Formats: sequence, structure tokens, C-alpha cells
Amino acid sequence: MKRVFQDVVGGFKSLLTGMRITLQQFFKKDVTVRYPHESLKMAKRYRGHVVLVNDPETGKSLCVACKSCEKACPSDCIVVEGLKREGEKKKSVTDFQLDFTRCSLCGSCVEVCPSDALEFSKDYNLASTSKEQFVRIDLVRRADEGKKPETGEGQA
Ligand code: SF4
Ligand code: SF4
Repeated sequence: MKRVFQDVVGGFKSLLTGMRITLQQFFKKDVTVRYPHESLKMAKRYRGHVVLVNDPETGKSLCVACKSCEKACPSDCIVVEGLKREGEKKKSVTDFQLDFTRCSLCGSCVEVCPSDALEFSKDYNLASTSKEQFVRIDLVRRADEGKKPETGEGQA
């Protein structure tokens, strides 16, 4: 009889301990993200594929089509074209193709750019059933469509 009583008390204590831990977790901040309805904020230092940056005031690309990034890329995955329009002092980019299947995210293109026209995106969930989709990423179109990376607010 005594043994049964001890088992009941022990079981009740164990139940209370479990409920205490459950309640503690219930009031803690969520650590999970409801992907794909929510996205993670990536750290500032995170490197997604490179993107072209538009001037926030004029909305035009900061790229002057100097091709320095194309020359600096060790993987030969950038092709830039541009032209000098009448009345403009600098060239404007007309085409910027990135072959992301070969990019090593080394950052040489971002570092060498004299106009700060390139930066790493915060895209972390590029996915496809075919790599062909990433062979020619049109960065001019992406920038014009406003597909700018979300601002990294995580740790640097
Ligand atoms: S990050 Fe490196 S490999 Fe990728 S495009 Fe830039 S220079 Fe080329
Ligand atoms: S992104 Fe920068 S380095 Fe590359 S062509 Fe444009 S201005 Fe030159």
C-alpha cells in the first residue's frame, strides 16, 4: 500500500515538473519562423548572390559599366554591357548578366566596384529544379523590379 502511495506522489510530482517546463516555454519568445509565410532576417555579413544597386534618389543604377567587376571575377561569371547616352557624362549599364552557377561569392566584384554599385543580396532560399534558371540572372531587371535584398538586421 505504501509503495502505491509513493508511486502516486512521485507521478504527481513528475506531472507538475513537466507542466512547469511547458508553461515556461509557453511564455518564451518564439524561435521558429513560419516559413514560407515569414522569412529570416539574415546577418549583415551574409552573402547571397550579388545585386546591382540603384541610386535611391534617381532610381537609376549606380553602375557605370566600367567592366572592372567583369575583369576582377575569378570565375568569369559576369557580363556587363553599357552605353554613353547623349548629354550624360558617364556610361549607363544596359545589361548585367550573372552566372550564379559558377559564382564562389568571393566578393572581388563588390570590392573592385568604383561606384558601390554592387552588393550581396540577403536571398538565402533560391531554389529550382533546374540550374539553368541561375545561369543568366539579369541583374538590371532585378534592380528595376525592386527586388532589392532585405536589410540584414541580424548580427554583423
Ligand atoms: S562574388 Fe566573386 S565569383 Fe561571384 S560574381 Fe563576384 S567576383 Fe565573381
Ligand atoms: S558594377 Fe561596378 S565594377 Fe561592375 S561595371 Fe558596374 S560600375 Fe563597373
